[in-house]
Amino acid sequence: MAFEGLSERLQAVMKKLRGKGKVTEADVKEAMREVRLALLEADVNFKVVKSFVDRVKERAIGQEVLKSLTPGQQVIKVVNEELTQLMGGEQSKLAQAGRPPTKIMMVGLQGAGKTTTSGKLARYLMKQNRRTLLVAGDVYRPAAIRQLEVLGKDLNAPVFSLGDKESPVRIAREGVEKAKQDGFDYVIIDTAGRLHIDEAMMDELKQIRDTVEPDEILLVVDAMTGQDAVNVAESFNRELGLTGVVLTKLDGDTRGGAALSVKAVTNCPIKFVGLGEKTDALEPFYPDRMASRILG
Ligand code: GDP
Repeated sequence: MAFEGLSERLQAVMKKLRGKGKVTEADVKEAMREVRLALLEADVNFKVVKSFVDRVKERAIGQEVLKSLTPGQQVIKVVNEELTQLMGGEQSKLAQAGRPPTKIMMVGLQGAGKTTTSGKLARYLMKQNRRTLLVAGDVYRPAAIRQLEVLGKDLNAPVFSLGDKESPVRIAREGVEKAKQDGFDYVIIDTAGRLHIDEAMMDELKQIRDTVEPDEILLVVDAMTGQDAVNVAESFNRELGLTGVVLTKLDGDTRGGAALSVKAVTNCPIKFVGLGEKTDALEPFYPDRMASRILG
């Protein structure tokens, strides 16, 4: 399960607060010291931790909280609200173009789960009766095109491919053209990632972006890489301008640092999370539900 470690520690802190009839300023400070350590241990960005703890302290020590009938509960409520805000507040929905097809460009480093997530997203949209075309633009990773074709077949989702000899820019352009002609609601373009961010990759992604003018540029990052995922998001956002993030492998992420830092650091909302290898293991991201789950 995601966030086990963090969740356990925060729940222990909250339990202490809940049990108290009266909560003093010193109690809040002590609790926040523990929250701070728990967040740092979960690999949350240290600046994010600092401002989070400062905000909670400021609100929790406020008159109306400590003087209330259930100050412990009120402090927990503040922590819950601030955690929700930290992860973006409101749910951030997928864009929908005024005129279909809505164009979604998937970007990310190799191995993050881009191709798998493209398939998952197609499944998610098709469940809502949106006709979705997948475009196989990852021409560099051996087997990526085949992988998408197999996924498409399993899902009954059409896949547009020109093989791996054509330029990804052309594949993307023609894929979108095809989606327009055939009246698709969504077109999802899988692009090539590399092991590390490099100029050639970014240049190619920029060309694709400028050619197809996507409604969404979704970065797929591996939650298990913690602050590295946040750094990757910062770079991609700076270079390309992202509209959202998909955090994959949350099922294996016991710490939660990326989920808790990425919005605060990059200002890009998390739109979906991946919770397994299967095609149905993709969920929209709800900051409030996630905060409640962490706090138990
Ligand atoms: P790409 O190189 O970014 O296209 O990566 P792939 O889509 O091929 O995914 C790399 C590996 O991560 C594959 O083995 C996927 O099954 C796995 N994967 C992707 N998303 C998830 C997820 O949410 N949870 C888990 N446990 N594995 C995932």
